Amino acid sequence: MAVTELYDLIIIGAGPGGLTAGIYAMRAALKTALIEMGAPGGQVNNSDSVENWPGEEHISGSELAEKLARHAQSYGLEIISQEVVGLEPALEHHTVRLANGDSLHAHAIILATGGSPRKINVPGEGEFYGKGVSYCAVCDGFFFRGKTVVVVGGGDTAAEESLYLAKLAKRVYIVHRRDALRAGALLQQRVKADCNIEILWNKVVTAIKAHDEGVYAVDLKDTQTGAQSELPTDGVFIFIGFEPNNQLVPAGTKMNADGYVVTDETCLTNTPGIYVIGDLREKYARQIVLSAADGCTAALAAAHYVETRKASDVCELPEALQSQAL
Ligand code: NAP
Repeated sequence: MAVTELYDLIIIGAGPGGLTAGIYAMRAALKTALIEMGAPGGQVNNSDSVENWPGEEHISGSELAEKLARHAQSYGLEIISQEVVGLEPALEHHTVRLANGDSLHAHAIILATGGSPRKINVPGEGEFYGKGVSYCAVCDGFFFRGKTVVVVGGGDTAAEESLYLAKLAKRVYIVHRRDALRAGALLQQRVKADCNIEILWNKVVTAIKAHDEGVYAVDLKDTQTGAQSELPTDGVFIFIGFEPNNQLVPAGTKMNADGYVVTDETCLTNTPGIYVIGDLREKYARQIVLSAADGCTAALAAAHYVETRKASDVCELPEALQSQAL
């Protein structure tokens, strides 16, 4: 029989935001469950090196994820390994439906499902994914030791991952669609100083070609002149940003044109009791520390919301029962 249970708070997603929310929720004595279908840490697990988490000059993404999860679990946070297939808001309490058929209920929900890598949508990208096309240097870089790779993108991720790949590959070509990187100044300096990395300015990949042994070349187009060329490569790593994982966001929730959820300063959406944090929330910058900050804010706000709700439930009881309830 399907399980149904009532929590004060359910957090969906165990990235740095969700785990930080878990720490604050447990410290606020909320009955909390955190649901995650993959490994705790989310996208952070794909980072070889995190160098802007305050207090850690250098830490691997997976180690940071592990530390955050351990910290949250030290307060007894219940982590449920399941896929969430639906989130249904309601006046009394919200319902979270799991892939195994169980339904959990909570007064408050914190949605922390982050984002996924954006695709370049060219021929060969989907077909050769896992056969030379990748969205994660830490996961797949090892297979390209001593080989040539193309990195697509010009942001912080493309820069960081290129530096990682440059330690393994024979040659890294960054293909960027314009004549300046978007990455932060320090990363730009490092990329430009790495003699194993060459930046191909004003170029886009128009096709990825492979034979039985895997990827062997990409077709390039010059964004200024339209000139076409072929660049031999063994692998293609795509880092052109990401899209919000907003599939669970309930209908009627306010989102911006790019699909990020609009909240108030407490991370509250336009549905009472439903909070959105981290990379799924509309904000100025997407950083691990900001996701963690969102997690703190939302958990504190949710604690206040749950307390107020419970207090008003008690007040609505007939006078004779109120003292018993207290
Ligand atoms: P991003 O900052 O959005 O950069 C995406 C890059 O891909 C841009 O250079 C963009 O070109 C290019 N691009 C976008 N669509 C493209 C397309 N269809 N074809 C070719 N190129 C395309 O994404 P990100 O680098 O993944 O970073 C996401 C967020 O995470 C950012 O806020 C970033 O600062 C943050 N982040 C921070 C760190 C860190 O602090 N250590 C590390 C990684 C990421 P244009 O420049 O021309 O738009």
